[in-house]
Amino acid sequence: MQYRTIKKTGIKISEISLGAEHIEKAPFDKVKTIIDMAMDNGVNYTDLFMGSPDIRDHFGKALKGKRDKMMIAGHLGAVRKNNQYHRTRDMKLVKDFFWDLLKRIDTDYIDMLMLHFIDEMDDLDVCINGGMLDFALELKKKGVARMIGISTHVPDVARGAMTTNQMDAIMFSINPLFDLMPSEKGIYKLFKDKDTIKKTVSLNNDRHNLYAECQKQDVALIVMKALFAGRLLKKDSPIQMTLNQCISYALSQPSVVSACLGCKKPKEFAQSLEYVNATDEQKDFAQIYKDSLSWSDEAKCMYCNHCLPCPQEIDIADAMRNIDAGSAPPDNCISCGLCEERCPFDVKIMDIFNP
Ligand code: SF4
Ligand code: SF4
Repeated sequence: MQYRTIKKTGIKISEISLGAEHIEKAPFDKVKTIIDMAMDNGVNYTDLFMGSPDIRDHFGKALKGKRDKMMIAGHLGAVRKNNQYHRTRDMKLVKDFFWDLLKRIDTDYIDMLMLHFIDEMDDLDVCINGGMLDFALELKKKGVARMIGISTHVPDVARGAMTTNQMDAIMFSINPLFDLMPSEKGIYKLFKDKDTIKKTVSLNNDRHNLYAECQKQDVALIVMKALFAGRLLKKDSPIQMTLNQCISYALSQPSVVSACLGCKKPKEFAQSLEYVNATDEQKDFAQIYKDSLSWSDEAKCMYCNHCLPCPQEIDIADAMRNIDAGSAPPDNCISCGLCEERCPFDVKIMDIFNP
């Protein structure tokens, strides 16, 4: 495993890191197997944004006695309400879930504290001036947080956060397809415009400029969505990529220190770790910009759960995964439409759930 330096702190992070999102509901044994495999292979950073008690407890148990060997990123603003993921800027909830995280993973500090999922400038203003950044700074001053960052998909939001001069890192979505897209409106909105994708054939300078600006300001980039939720590996992807190419692409961008990769099972993470021994030929992604782009007209679920909460407490991403695997849709969808308003990928959820 290679390590890169988060320049503002001098802390070294493994090029491959572990995203825990898809093991949120996994049993302890599976979580432990993945964490052990990651650590045995030199991974020293994991992102644990979720507010679910079980996954937090599992991490605490699996890391017992070796907490100092694995850096943990916790997120301010990602909470659990009515048994579902919620984004919140309510500082009482933000604080409650932060202290809960420390307690459940049995630690007295967090390595990276991310201000969670900010994609609008107004929201950035709320997070910076409404108490969240102050709380993060207070924790850093007391040694309860070692580093501060934000997670976002929007270059201007990243730039806005950097004007505070308080960001050690930014968790940013980087993959070859996103980098071909315009960025002004926020990435998810753009994905509703299939024509934009079809017509876009040149690199987006705004995103690339951001990576360069981060490099200039010594702000580390930690990559999320390096595989576009697995879409870049599929046959109908507008760009055909391999896992090694996706990781290589992400790690090739300026200021990137780590590609944070999720997995549903140990085997998947083992495949990501194969990158460490991949040949230069296997990592070469140059051909992707020679390929012509095309895009399926049919919107597909990316399993991101941005459509929650659902009044019927349906875990929509989970239901979609099951449907894709051949199971029947949930039988309690009341077609209220709330989820479709929130789905960044324009998935016809009601039609799928009520065929
Ligand atoms: S349309 Fe169905 S799945 Fe979507 S929020 Fe309403 S009840 Fe839930
Ligand atoms: S339906 Fe849309 S918002 Fe919901 S999980 Fe799928 S892609 Fe994400």
